[in-house]
Formats: sequence, structure tokens, C-alpha cells
Amino acid sequence: MWDAIVIGSGIGGMGAAGALARRGKRVLVLEQHTVPGGQTQTFRRGDWVFATGVHYLSGCSPDPGPGGQFRRLLEWVGDGTLRFAPCANPYDIVRLPGFEFGIPYPEAAYRQALEERFPDQHAAIARWFTHCESARKAGFALMAAHNLPPLLGWGLRLLRAAQIQAWSGRTLADELREIGDPRLRAVLGARWGDYGAPPESAPFIEHAWVTGAYNDGAYYPVGGPARFAQSLLATVQSAGGECRLGATVHRILVNHAKVAGVEFEQGGETIIADAPHVISAMGLANTVACLDEGIAPEWRTAAGRLVPGYGYVALYLGLEGDLADCGVNSANHWISESVDAGHLWRQPADEDAPVLFVSFPSLKDPTWEGPPTAEVLAIVDQEAFAPWLRGEKGAGDYLAFKDWVTERLFAQFGRHFPELASRVRFKEAATPLTQRRFVGAVDGAMYGTEMTVERFGSDALRLRTAVPGLLLSGQDVMGPGVQAAFMGGLMAAATVEPALWRELGR
Ligand SMILES: Cc1cc2nc3c(=O)[nH]c(=O)nc-3n(C[C@H](O)[C@H](O)[C@H](O)COP(=O)(O)OP(=O)(O)OC[C@H]3O[C@@H](n4cnc5c(N)ncnc54)[C@H](O)[C@@H]3O)c2cc1C
Repeated sequence: MWDAIVIGSGIGGMGAAGALARRGKRVLVLEQHTVPGGQTQTFRRGDWVFATGVHYLSGCSPDPGPGGQFRRLLEWVGDGTLRFAPCANPYDIVRLPGFEFGIPYPEAAYRQALEERFPDQHAAIARWFTHCESARKAGFALMAAHNLPPLLGWGLRLLRAAQIQAWSGRTLADELREIGDPRLRAVLGARWGDYGAPPESAPFIEHAWVTGAYNDGAYYPVGGPARFAQSLLATVQSAGGECRLGATVHRILVNHAKVAGVEFEQGGETIIADAPHVISAMGLANTVACLDEGIAPEWRTAAGRLVPGYGYVALYLGLEGDLADCGVNSANHWISESVDAGHLWRQPADEDAPVLFVSFPSLKDPTWEGPPTAEVLAIVDQEAFAPWLRGEKGAGDYLAFKDWVTERLFAQFGRHFPELASRVRFKEAATPLTQRRFVGAVDGAMYGTEMTVERFGSDALRLRTAVPGLLLSGQDVMGPGVQAAFMGGLMAAATVEPALWRELGR
């Protein structure tokens, strides 16, 4: 009998497990993959080490304010060894045909850079920042109302009803339509890849939230993202807990209408583990699939209205030489092939990706010792991979398709970074099938449940599910991003152990 079971060792699962361990709870973490960390895991090919789901982090500023809250919480929950290095400033560079704009922090610097570059757009820029601020406040109110203990949540929702009402139905496209200058529109809307929904469906609250999170700076974990698992799981173990790898949960057990434990598969054996609390950090759809038919029918119906979000293709490049010679640094590049930066990659076999994200992790980590790396990402409509995702008969040769897409993406990278391309010595791509295999993502979705305005109002995505004792954590609760998924974990832990709510104020 464990005090709690956490399903999934991503940052959402590790945050929940670590926080409970800090309160002396014995927690069992179950992870289907043989490597812990979910999307914070890294992998090695030859001498090159690649990160998977971390390119830059918010909340890690050394300052004592809210911009450093994530760092402080990690220090407390983990073993105190996590450190963060600042990325270059500007940290995100938006590139359009014949135009480039670096996004700096803090917000005042960003705003000033926009004013200088678009001097006749003063009113539009001022309105954008005012709207971002209001939408962010509405987002916090909405999330808190959804997930705080019921009475508090209800009070907050009542208090902030007008604000929530004003912003919760608005998309990024609604906001961008108010901006006349197409380049300004592209710069302000470019970073939708950070949460994976193109402007027409992206909630403006999410855009304001995610992009605003970097107003206090962008950071990278020193020693690489795999450090998260080392630090957080040490706390779990020190309290008598355990993280089991290669342990796939296939059933969440419910007894007398309450959660009772889980049934999982490990090394060909079926094992039952009991606990009065189960925190599922494997995503909403995976969680629902592990419940027997007939359990919590209304919640399941609400969950069924939400679908997995879009996928991505990643190209992992191993290079040689000093990348700084080629004029790049630790900033990310958001490259759009046209001034309309809001398109998904729908036909990866037949067209270039409309938008590319390019990052140089080896330039972000001051302790990096191996040869340099680059990572290229394009958000894709996984319909192109559907025959293999669905295991259809006659689907064709997946590896040949993947090779074709890899070469196309590499050629596109080479057009933007010819000098770097000539130094590439290794390349390998990941597709939605990769994401499904290594982090169990339904349909290979990049960020879990699709990011839409409907999602914000859904009763299916609260921390507390309709099954007493079963909680959700991770990116499906608080939204995509390492900091948000971790906060989802902490809030799930605080729901089990209310004394933890106080710690969130660190
Ligand atoms: C390519 C990419 C780039 C990104 N870049 C950034 C970035 O720069 N900055 C940022 O803040 N965020 C970034 N993100 C988002 C961020 O990585 C995620 O939002 C966050 O890590 C999600 O954490 P999680 O714990 O919710 O989910 P995950 O990390 O996906 O963890 C879920 C875990 O559950 C396990 N699991 C699933 N099913 C089962 C089962 N049945 N039994 C047992 N275990 C199971 C999985 O194997 C996985 O380990 C990126 C994401 C991607 C994909």
C-alpha cells in the first residue's frame, strides 16, 4: 500500500511525486518507457546528446519575484542541485522573407524594440500589450477557479466573471485581425508553436500566457533537461518512494466508487499496486482509456469532446566545429516562409514546412562537453502519418516516408543555414509515431489535448476527476510547457495534501 501512485514520470508526474515526498509520503511512480523524464528526457547518438521537449524555460530567473517561482519550487521539491543558465537576449528571433526581429526581455525592452521597428503602429502595439495583460489575468482566474478547492474556486469565478467572459472565447486570430501591418502581425503571432495551435484555433489567453512567461527571461537547465529526473526522483526515493521504469499502467482500479490503485505490466508480469490516491500525469485520453466502462460516464463524455492536438516532426542534427562561427547563439529561430506565420505543415511529403523552429541546445548549456547539436521542429497535421498511426493495411513503407520527410526538412534547414548544413555529420528525425512510442502521446500529439477555447471551459480537465481520489496532473491540466506541467503536478499534490498549497507561494 503506497500513500500515492503517480502515473508518468514527465515533469507533471515528477512534480507531484516530489512534492508529496517532501511531505514524507511514499510514492510509487510508474513510467512506461525505460528512461524517466517524459519530455524532459534526452538521448544519445554517438557523441551527440539531444534534448526532446525542452528548448527554453520560463520561471527560472534569479530574481526573487514571480519570474523565479518555478526555479524556487524546483529547488524545494528536488534535491537542490538544479541550476539554470540564461539564454541570449533577444532569446527568440522571428524571421520572415527579407525581415528579422529579435524578441528581447523584459517586456519593456520588447515593447520598445517593436515601437522602434514599427513607428507608425504605436496604437496597435499599446493595445496588444494591454490586451495581453488582461487576457493573462483572466487566464489565471480561470485556471484557479477550475482547480482550487471548490468553494474558493467558485468564489473566484464569481468575482472575476466579467474578465473571464471577455477573454475566454477569443482566439489569437481574433486579436491579430485588429493589426494592420502584416509584419507586426507575424511577429506578435509567430510563437504559436510554443503551445501547438495555429492562430485560428489558439485561445488568445494561452498565447498571452505562454509568450508573456518569458518576459522575465528565458533559461536552460545546466547539464541538460535530464537533470530534472535526477533531481526530482532523488526526493521521491529519499522518502521511501520508487520510480519503476518499463511499467505500463493499463487499468486504474476503482472500488466502492473510489480509486483504489492501478494494474500495470512490467517485464511481462501483471502487477497490482494499491493506493488511496492516484495522480495521472499521462494525459487525459490515456487516463480515460484506463478506466473500466461505466465509470464516471458524464466525465468521460466531457473528456470525449476533447481531441489530441497536432503533432510535430523534429530533425536532430549532430554537427562539428564551433557553431558560434556561423553567427548563431543560444537564441531560438522562428522561421516563416511567408509573412503569414500561422500555418501548419499539412503535406510533409509534398511541400516545405510553412514554419520552422530552430534551436541550438549545445550553445545554451555552459557545461556542454560533446560536439554541437541543432534541433529543427515543424508542427504537422498528423493526418499525413495517419495510415501508420492507425496501423492501416497497405499503409506503405513508413521508414521510406520518414526518410523522404527528413531529407526535405534538412534541405529546407540548409537553405536558411547553409554554413551550418555543411557541418552536419548526423541527422535523424522524429515523427508523431516517435512521440507516441516514447511518451505514450495519443496520436503522437505534441502537447496532449488540443489547445482550443473549448478546452478552457471543459469540466474534464480539472485536477479532480469525477472519481474520488483520482487526480490529473501535467500539461493537460495547466497547459503545455515545462513550468505549467510542473505546476499542475504541484497542485495535484496539494489537492491530496492541503498543507502544500502554502508552499506554492514560494
Ligand atoms: C518537441 C517539443 C518541444 C518542446 N519545447 C518546450 C520548451 O522549449 N519549453 C517548455 O517549457 N516546454 C516545451 N515543450 C512542452 C513540454 O515539454 C511539455 O509540455 C511537458 O514536458 C509535459 O510534461 P507532462 O509531464 O505533462 O507530460 P510528459 O512529459 O509527456 O509525461 C508523460 C509521461 O507519462 C508516461 N506514460 C504515458 N502512458 C503511460 C502509461 N500507460 N503507463 C505509465 N506511464 C505512461 C509517458 O511515457 C511520459 O513519460 C516541448 C514539447 C515538445 C514535444
